[in-house]
Amino acid sequence: MAEPRHFDVVIIGAGIAGASLAVALSGNGLSIALVEAQELGARALPQGCGLSDFDPRVSALTPRSREFLQKLGAWDAIAAYRLCAYQHMTVWDAEGTGQIEFDRAEVGATELGHIVENRAIVHALLAQVSGASDIKVMSPAALQSCARLPSSQMSLELSGGECLQADLLVAADGALSRVREMMGFTCREWDYGHRAIVATVEVEHSHQETAWQRFLPSGPLALLPLPGAEGHHYCSIVWSLQEDKVDEVLALDDEAFCAELERVSEARLGAVLASSRRFAHPLRQRHAVDYVQPGVALVADAAHTIHPLAGQGINLGLQDVAVLAEEIAAGHRSGVGPGQLALLRRYQRRRKGENLMMMSAMDGFKRLFEQQSLPLRWLRNVGMRRIDTLVPVKRQLMRHAMGLR
Ligand SMILES: Cc1cc2nc3c(=O)[nH]c(=O)nc-3n(C[C@H](O)[C@H](O)[C@H](O)COP(=O)(O)OP(=O)(O)OC[C@H]3O[C@@H](n4cnc5c(N)ncnc54)[C@H](O)[C@@H]3O)c2cc1C
Repeated sequence: MAEPRHFDVVIIGAGIAGASLAVALSGNGLSIALVEAQELGARALPQGCGLSDFDPRVSALTPRSREFLQKLGAWDAIAAYRLCAYQHMTVWDAEGTGQIEFDRAEVGATELGHIVENRAIVHALLAQVSGASDIKVMSPAALQSCARLPSSQMSLELSGGECLQADLLVAADGALSRVREMMGFTCREWDYGHRAIVATVEVEHSHQETAWQRFLPSGPLALLPLPGAEGHHYCSIVWSLQEDKVDEVLALDDEAFCAELERVSEARLGAVLASSRRFAHPLRQRHAVDYVQPGVALVADAAHTIHPLAGQGINLGLQDVAVLAEEIAAGHRSGVGPGQLALLRRYQRRRKGENLMMMSAMDGFKRLFEQQSLPLRWLRNVGMRRIDTLVPVKRQLMRHAMGLR
């Protein structure tokens, strides 16, 4: 049998987290493998600007994430494809008159963030990967098994039978991480009993480069601005609903779905004229108790999944990637291998607190807006109106959400 191929770092999963980690590690004198279960052929991005040409999965990227993607050399391709900078955010409560407005001018920024299609981010990162001689891409190849050898190296078997060895195995394989499961990482998790419906919709009026979010007792609804075309105005929606309501809404025909969306969005953008196919994603909050073991590290959704209401998931994930890459590169320069526990623990220490804080805040918001009791609804509305007038508090909230320190 052939000797297993050895790499310094093997990354499982070439989503946004895995692909960005490979690029961030490249050029440091390490050998890297990027293993992806799906075919990663050079599929071109759709150039049309019709409803079904948009990826139904989009991310609201913070300025901090944009900076990181710029550093990786991927941002120019993302911007050249298409994105929508949003200058403003309107958040309102369905139960009363509470509303908060956030504007880029209040923090002296050129924008609050950018709405980008997920596949455009991955595409730009993979273009960087393909130009790197120190990254070996294996796709389609799924991780089948992994184990720690007595030498403390990691041994992996891929679908197709290929065996690899690695000093460090990185799980960037998403919320249902097989690495996390196979290596016995413990997670704290809770099911919200909600799913999020995502789709692209055409609306009557311009979105005014604003991210709109309405808190309903059934869950938040977000209308995120997308680039328009010749008088057509598009938004990407993320509509969280209780489990027992989702199938009902998914079963509506296009006309009834648009009418229902128009009703729950209070027609803030006028009529909802058309919708793409709808998809639903289960919403669970999950946080690994430890992100690392000797020779293994979890990043992004493999380490934590967060309610999408504030669009922070991959923004936190990209910061995990940035810090892990920084620690590995610094370790390599001083002769410390990437799988050493002390090095990995530094990564965990630097990331866990921030992730936990954001996850708790999002969970708190979600629960607060679900409350139906009259005194709480009153307090919530008064609170929102009050915060809207407190510029320093708003500025602080915005800076935090934008990833600015
Ligand atoms: C409805 C919704 C809206 C969201 N909106 C936002 C937002 O606005 N802003 C934001 O920051 N975040 C948002 N998020 C969160 C964000 O989408 C995730 O944090 C992000 O996609 C996670 O990226 P990832 O690379 O960690 O995992 P994934 O994107 O899940 O990628 C994992 C990759 O690993 C591969 N893989 C899995 N198992 C194996 C295996 N055994 N072998 C090989 N490969 C494997 C998969 O094929 C996949 O390509 C949203 C999430 C949801 C559900």
